[in-house]
Amino acid sequence: MRRFALAAFLLLLMPALAWPRGELRRIYEPAISSQDQISLSDIKRSGVVSEILRFINNEFDLPDDLYIRLGARRGPLFDNQYGEIDIPYSFVTMTRNVFARAWPDKSEDEIFNASMDVLMHVLMHEMGHALLDLYGIPAIRNEENEVDDLAAILLVEMFEDGGKIVLSAAKAFDLQSTRGGAYEREHEGTEHGLSVERFRNMACLVYGSDPKKYPELLENTGLTIDDAKECTRRYKIRRAYWFETLGSNMKRNSPLRPATTKKEGFWSSVSSTLRRVFDRD
Ligand SMILES: [Zn+2]
Repeated sequence: MRRFALAAFLLLLMPALAWPRGELRRIYEPAISSQDQISLSDIKRSGVVSEILRFINNEFDLPDDLYIRLGARRGPLFDNQYGEIDIPYSFVTMTRNVFARAWPDKSEDEIFNASMDVLMHVLMHEMGHALLDLYGIPAIRNEENEVDDLAAILLVEMFEDGGKIVLSAAKAFDLQSTRGGAYEREHEGTEHGLSVERFRNMACLVYGSDPKKYPELLENTGLTIDDAKECTRRYKIRRAYWFETLGSNMKRNSPLRPATTKKEGFWSSVSSTLRRVFDRD
């Protein structure tokens, strides 16, 4: 009888033991060249990596550990063999240089902020690849387009000025579109959209998320009035898709409010739906 009780107790304990315990962590490789040192110090000063870590670890049940390796030799990319997002310091340097060349009149702070927005977007994009891989979510279209959409939606819904972050990244794609650069080389050997298409897609999603907030996008991105309606519809559909797809992988009792964000519309609606479905109150 006692043995039975022990077995029943262990059985009760099993779901807790089996609950995923993965965590997203970061690794900083040493920066050797002076350019790399500047980029490393920019990354640390921006707090961008900490924000991503806090967001992911607060909201998602990761079945396995994941790493962000800053100062990797290649990338940006997600390496599913090692569960690792690789970002070279040279990518941050290149982004800074691209903006500095394109905006000679802007201040160092503005260049710094735009570059760190791009880093934030790239990390979220690679995180999108990682989430698809970890949860076995099939890409229903080109995976690059899928994770671009996911990154834009997560940033817009969860981060203060998320729309601005996506637009900085879109701008970087735009600046790169005339001459293939590191953005174009991302995921060499795999499918990815051309920079100009990614620029339009990102601008479209940001516009569609709140047309009243971003009227200027109709003037300076090539989006037409017809596109505008389509963008609003598209954002709604894509948001609902990711809502359905990721909802079941989120943490139980997640506060759904990372420290760095103010908006909570998307994830609080995920939370209330989950509560209805699973009676988690
Ligand atoms: Zn990608």
